[in-house]
Amino acid sequence: MKKYDVIVCGGGTAGMIAAISSARTGASTLLVERDGFLGGTATYGLPFLGFFSGDGTKVIGGIPQELVDRMVEIGGSVGHVRGGTWKTGKGEYDYEFSLTPYDPEFLKFVVQEMALEAGVELMLQSVLIGTQLDKNRITYIELMTVEGRKKVKADVFVDATGDAMLTWLAGFPTKLRGRGNMQNVTHVIRVGNVDVERMVESLKEEKVIIGFKDWYIRLLRGKLIDGDEGFVHVAGHAKLWDDKPPLTFTGVRWRKDEISFNITRTTNIDPTKVSDINRAEINERKNVMSVIKRMRELVPGFEKAYLISTSVRVGIREGRRIQGIFTLTEKDVIERGEFPDGIARGAYPIDIHDPKGGETKFTFIKGGGSYGIPYRCLIPKGSDNLVVAGRCVSTTGEALGSVRLMSTCMALGQAAGTAAALASKGSISPSKLEIDHLQNRLLEDKAILKVS
Ligand SMILES: Cc1cc2nc3c(=O)[nH]c(=O)nc-3n(C[C@H](O)[C@H](O)[C@H](O)COP(=O)(O)OP(=O)(O)OC[C@H]3O[C@@H](n4cnc5c(N)ncnc54)[C@H](O)[C@@H]3O)c2cc1C
Repeated sequence: MKKYDVIVCGGGTAGMIAAISSARTGASTLLVERDGFLGGTATYGLPFLGFFSGDGTKVIGGIPQELVDRMVEIGGSVGHVRGGTWKTGKGEYDYEFSLTPYDPEFLKFVVQEMALEAGVELMLQSVLIGTQLDKNRITYIELMTVEGRKKVKADVFVDATGDAMLTWLAGFPTKLRGRGNMQNVTHVIRVGNVDVERMVESLKEEKVIIGFKDWYIRLLRGKLIDGDEGFVHVAGHAKLWDDKPPLTFTGVRWRKDEISFNITRTTNIDPTKVSDINRAEINERKNVMSVIKRMRELVPGFEKAYLISTSVRVGIREGRRIQGIFTLTEKDVIERGEFPDGIARGAYPIDIHDPKGGETKFTFIKGGGSYGIPYRCLIPKGSDNLVVAGRCVSTTGEALGSVRLMSTCMALGQAAGTAAALASKGSISPSKLEIDHLQNRLLEDKAILKVS
């Protein structure tokens, strides 16, 4: 059986960065991914949110920033677009709204190249299906590959599967808020041939697309990757049917004629249940087709629009999380918690897409600041050689509403990959790692752990 220093399970938003940081820290690293490409949810056509806090401070650096820079270099992104305003409703302060749009096909390519350059071994189209333990140590994992079952060993494992699949298969404690209490799910859609400028004009008229006063300050203009300038972020409520509540949507645009929408939703889904996932996929496909048809009929600028693609899987905002040595709470997020073992930062407001399908709720971080995320949130209770990254780290459901944003997930990936590599090098459990050692290495690699 082949043995590695580190195996990362899940090559999505957090896992792709974890594998790069692990390999760059000197560990022989295998990255296992069930799809045929890297990127996971970061390939759905969403913008990175959360590189900057509401007061305009940069809180994410390191490998995530390098990824953005490399996409910019080859024309796959214009980089960060800043300068929107977000009324917090508190009267004391407003947030700066910023986002980082990119073409997801460029992300797939750039991240693959960065992983290969770092020396990561990729095992694509391979699904984690089982684990073998010796007491609290995972000795090997089992994968379903195109050759059938395969076993691979490592000193340290990283769980970046989104739903803590590795932690759960290994039998370490996990938690789930349960059907009806978790955020709703969405198929993100890319739509071509939309006249976005006309669409925004119609928002001002408050006919089919309504809510101008809610959203106008977050309608952001900027450069597009094909050289034009225009709206890069649009939002509103689409009143498509008289007998149904309007659909709140956000749209991000990186090319003149193409825009990606987050508009449909399905409620009552437990993403760890096969029947729920089937219901979500089937329902969201129906939703997408009817929304596109109706928007073509009703929305100015949408008359000749066509569906380019739906996300490779239905997008899951919330699922299973680990029970870590520490659990980050809503208070830690809002009150800008700082921790001696902080290894990444979060800055986006708590963004909860209503489990019942109602309006999305935002809770803002005090003063538009940011918070630290402790390393202990990445270590499953009782485990000896496992680190976790992405939306399945140890948080409460409310805190997840902020931690789940992609910039934060990528920073968590960098921390988890570095920690796994250092633990393997030192032949110690990740839970016993000297925190200074980890933090110093992350700082050398340009991660941002503190802001003044
Ligand atoms: C609809 C929607 C809209 C969102 N909008 C935004 C936004 O605009 N901006 C923003 O910053 N964030 C947004 N988010 C949040 C963000 O995209 C996610 O929370 C984040 O990408 C999760 O990262 P992750 O690494 O934990 O999971 P993922 O990126 O999903 O990665 C998990 C990876 O593990 C792989 N995997 C799973 N199980 C196995 C297995 N058994 N074997 C092998 N591989 C496996 C998957 O294929 C995947 O590649 C949105 C989320 C959703 C769902």
